[in-house]
Amino acid sequence: MPEALLLKPDRKFVEEVIDAGGGDLKKCYQCATCSVVCGLSNEPSPFPRKEMIWAQWGLKDRLISDPDIWLCHQCNDCSLRCPRGARPGDVMAAIRQKAIEHYAFPSVMGRLVNSARAIPVMLLLVPALLIAGALLVRGPIEAAFNYVDPHGHEFYAHFFPHWLLIAFYTSLTLLTFGGLIVGLFRFWGGMKANDAALGKGAPILGFIPSTIKALMALLTHDRFGSCTDQASRKPAHFMAFYGFIALFIVTTWAVIDIYVMPYLGVATLYPFGLLHPMKILANVGGVLLIVGAGRAILTRKSAPKDGYHQSTTFDWVFVWLLLLVGISGFIVEIFRFVAEGAAGAEAYASGFATPAYAFYFMHLVLVFGLLVYLPYSKFAHMWYRLAAMIYGEHTGRTGPGKQLVKVDLS
Ligand code: SF4
Ligand code: SF4
Repeated sequence: MPEALLLKPDRKFVEEVIDAGGGDLKKCYQCATCSVVCGLSNEPSPFPRKEMIWAQWGLKDRLISDPDIWLCHQCNDCSLRCPRGARPGDVMAAIRQKAIEHYAFPSVMGRLVNSARAIPVMLLLVPALLIAGALLVRGPIEAAFNYVDPHGHEFYAHFFPHWLLIAFYTSLTLLTFGGLIVGLFRFWGGMKANDAALGKGAPILGFIPSTIKALMALLTHDRFGSCTDQASRKPAHFMAFYGFIALFIVTTWAVIDIYVMPYLGVATLYPFGLLHPMKILANVGGVLLIVGAGRAILTRKSAPKDGYHQSTTFDWVFVWLLLLVGISGFIVEIFRFVAEGAAGAEAYASGFATPAYAFYFMHLVLVFGLLVYLPYSKFAHMWYRLAAMIYGEHTGRTGPGKQLVKVDLS
């Protein structure tokens, strides 16, 4: 006789998943149509049917450590075919949000960053106060170290010096990324424990080849290719992803250019001119970010109510932040070139300075929301998904063409 299995349902978790966008999960009657039509579901561990029943039963521990919630790319092909209108794609998205909150370290940040009521405070007030505080301590620090900023004559450095900008964002980002690493380790341990309890998860591929395969899938976005009804998500995601990467490369190079090159005897070229390769890359990245985020917003706004993913605050905050960071970045750049063109080296003392610095301040606030809160916002999905994809390759869960039955979705 098989051993009895004691289930410990977490009713609060069921309510949380419902509140986070999985409001139709109780309609599921386990027909498994969703797992059949999903182009990313795989034979050893088909989804999302099992997640639907786990969610109905409130099996929080099993769900938040389930790699399959991250192997789903939210195409909603399953939701469109669900005969009960249970919206399994939305339930998977809601569970992912809960997983990010669960693994957040410190956990209070996961709750605060994703609380709709706390958004104005967390996204606007806190960054604005911290940035203003950094500006206030600038003078005393420079005086204490008898430091004369060699970049002080530059248009934006006059307002917010490079050394302060780098120290401020680097320290905060490293701090929160430390939290992300803790969360990812806990997630990895959870996946292993989850599989061990189910008698699965034996490694079939080494960690390094698994990582390479997962990275290739991420860089090519090949899993998005399985979407049928919302195929337009792939180019939007692709553009926003590579736009962000381009801007990250430019920012890193700017820091090297300002603070490393002089030690190597190479003259710094920052701030880059319009035709400098890094400025060109920055502008291409900015355009990709704006177009990608803009397309994502339009797709979400025009999604019919029936079957398609209904975006939540968690989704909206992220795509709007991406768009606004891109737009405000261009406004800041235009101010700089116009001011320098009109006033030359004394641009910081010109009439352009006040509006330009106001926009720059806003841009820094938005960048804070995107970068410093990355481990707690929807942005974290990139890292959790990558970890799940590596684990999936490692344990033989993934691979294109493993759809159970090929279905004509037309
Ligand atoms: S979510 Fe819908 S398609 Fe999937 S098992 Fe439940 S009822 Fe069937
Ligand atoms: S949303 Fe798409 S990827 Fe996710 S479970 Fe449904 S069909 Fe599969």
